[in-house]
Amino acid sequence: MYFFLAFLISSVIHLIPAPVKQVQHDGSFLIDEHTVLYIHQDAAPAAKGAASFLNKALYPATRLPLKQVVERPASGAVAFLLNTNLPTEGYTLNVTKEGVEIGAADAAGFFYGVQTLLQLFPPFVYRPVYEPDQYAATRRAVLPCVHITDYPRFSYRGMMLDVSRQFYTVDYVKKYLDWMAAHKLNRFHWHLADDTGWRVEIKKYPELTSKGAWRGPDEVISSIYGHAGKRYGGFYTQEEIKDIVAYAAARHIEIIPEIDLPGHSKAIIATYPHILCDLTDYEGLSIQGVSNNVWCASSEDNYRMLEDIVGEMVELFPSSYFHIGGDEVVTTQWTHCARCSAFMKEQGIQNPTEMQSYFVQRMQQILNKFDKTLVGWNEIMYGGELDRNKTVIHAWQSVQKIKEAAEKQYKIIAQPAQYCYLDMKHTLGERGMMWAAIVEVDQVYNFDPITTSGLTEEESSFLLGVQGGLWSELLDRPERIAEYQTYPRLCALSEVAWSLPEHKNWDDFHTRLEKSHFDRLYHMGIRFRIPPPKAEYINGCIVVEHTYPHMAIRYTSDGTEPHALSPLYMGPIDTNTPQLYKLAAFYKDDIKSTTVEVSLPEGRFQQPAVRVSGTMNTNPRTPLGYIEEYKNAHVFCYGPLEKGQYLQFDFEELVHTPGIRIQTGLPFVDINIIDFAHVEYSTDGVHFKQADCEWKNGGCRFVPPAPLRALRLVANKGNDALVYYLHYLRIEKSCL
Ligand SMILES: [Zn+2]
Repeated sequence: MYFFLAFLISSVIHLIPAPVKQVQHDGSFLIDEHTVLYIHQDAAPAAKGAASFLNKALYPATRLPLKQVVERPASGAVAFLLNTNLPTEGYTLNVTKEGVEIGAADAAGFFYGVQTLLQLFPPFVYRPVYEPDQYAATRRAVLPCVHITDYPRFSYRGMMLDVSRQFYTVDYVKKYLDWMAAHKLNRFHWHLADDTGWRVEIKKYPELTSKGAWRGPDEVISSIYGHAGKRYGGFYTQEEIKDIVAYAAARHIEIIPEIDLPGHSKAIIATYPHILCDLTDYEGLSIQGVSNNVWCASSEDNYRMLEDIVGEMVELFPSSYFHIGGDEVVTTQWTHCARCSAFMKEQGIQNPTEMQSYFVQRMQQILNKFDKTLVGWNEIMYGGELDRNKTVIHAWQSVQKIKEAAEKQYKIIAQPAQYCYLDMKHTLGERGMMWAAIVEVDQVYNFDPITTSGLTEEESSFLLGVQGGLWSELLDRPERIAEYQTYPRLCALSEVAWSLPEHKNWDDFHTRLEKSHFDRLYHMGIRFRIPPPKAEYINGCIVVEHTYPHMAIRYTSDGTEPHALSPLYMGPIDTNTPQLYKLAAFYKDDIKSTTVEVSLPEGRFQQPAVRVSGTMNTNPRTPLGYIEEYKNAHVFCYGPLEKGQYLQFDFEELVHTPGIRIQTGLPFVDINIIDFAHVEYSTDGVHFKQADCEWKNGGCRFVPPAPLRALRLVANKGNDALVYYLHYLRIEKSCL
């Protein structure tokens, strides 16, 4: 019975990313403790690593040690054979009733052959521990017979992780690399320094990490992006970096380090203030609202320091690329610097953009000494000419920047935010950023770096490949939210990067994802995102729809969060109080979607006329009028917020409501909230009473005992976060 079931399960092949050619045949090969590993001597230098990776990958979940043999047996082997006809990174994978053959011309090809072979196993193969009772009755697995020929579309298939805004441990970075390798990605762009933290040990400048890697009370960098009131940060020692680089190399991933220059440098400047310009009272703010975060571009001492830093880093990172950032620089700082403006005059540098190009060219000279190619965000292509052979443009702002860089004949990495920024929201009602776009899985999937950017065939020769990016502003909690943002969008990206465009098909991808790949992600231990259900109130019933029908929907009817033991949705729910229901989708009763509420026919909230006033320090760009107009935009406020500061809502007419929700902070993420507060209410607009509701995670739901004339949100003590956000009130309608 088990055998038959296993055969059925393994007989459908759902590979991600889709290979170039896949022909399935009848029958299967049973891999068990008698199966051996054979490496033909011609293949040995290239295949050794992949063979040992296979054994290490199989063992934890299956307890199958494949013993290596010198003579190839007639059957029952996993054989590695040299095939010099294949392109770089390409492979063939043959499973017949007699055994398995992996052919490749290079080490990466064998490695990807092994990665595809693992996808032919039942998904439990990815489990990090052996669980015989639950997953594998015996040490065996049935592989379907198939012939696969495969090679990548792009040589550069990357993913970026921002470890400055949130810090990720060595172990976590290794997991991240494992998961990338399973999706045949081969470049890890490591964003190691930004305004919010410097993460690389530099021996010559120890304070970069003893001070610049930490933020919080009494640190040189103040709290931001969560962790309010706590010392937060971390860094990688040079030994740890070497270890991670070797770990990545064993998975055919090259690590490209980035230190973001000359802007985004608050962490360094807070530590070594002398690198700043000679400014009087100028305080140009970066797009993130950070002041004084740009290196002085005319100070020779600064270039010496940068050469020292780069000099230590190139010893750690063998990649031929070095990323210097170059984005979002407040270049106007230089025209307010006595030293820089004199320098610009003397050198005939006309404007701040040219000054930025001067800085980039100086960085290029430094990198040339170490034989490295400079990579920079697309802003670096303005203000001057850079050496085409030693520069790669990392196009991020739009697909037009890909086109523009190609027209200028620069080599390009495509990472347009509208398709490849995985910190963007999956859908409007979920957590995440949305300044570039809402990036659903199919938005990533349907991106094509060549056709979406309108590159001609000649221009496409400048394109190295494509990359996803994960910025970590909003990733402080819950834990492992990085995985929620990354998966399954990275699976879609892997197909953009690897598969031939003629083999891409969204419906087919969706099927492969749902039927097999989610299960692989699950067993790998990834807390991936599953789409929330859609719940509507129709004719007195709650009716639920879900994109992936095999996932369970669970609900509560008392306003609490649904969990794995909450009732299962089995069909329309007849109720008079739909506003009290909360629903979520569950994968294996373990991974949960975001919680949703029922959408009510005429909009769930009322918007009575209200006047808003108070003593909070709002940014004039986001006036309190937004709240009065029920605008879907938050009001940005500056700290410090002290006890007694308040925000008052005066209603024009008495408001009848079953409940009012007050929330602060960025929507869905509990960041930049008001930490300690209470609510006061008034039925006459004059006398106020304290409301009976618990302030939690920057908000509360208040049930007014009588119709309301006014409401006040009052801070109880000083806030931890230095910036906070205010919103309009969610005033519930009575449902009946
Ligand atoms: Zn200056």
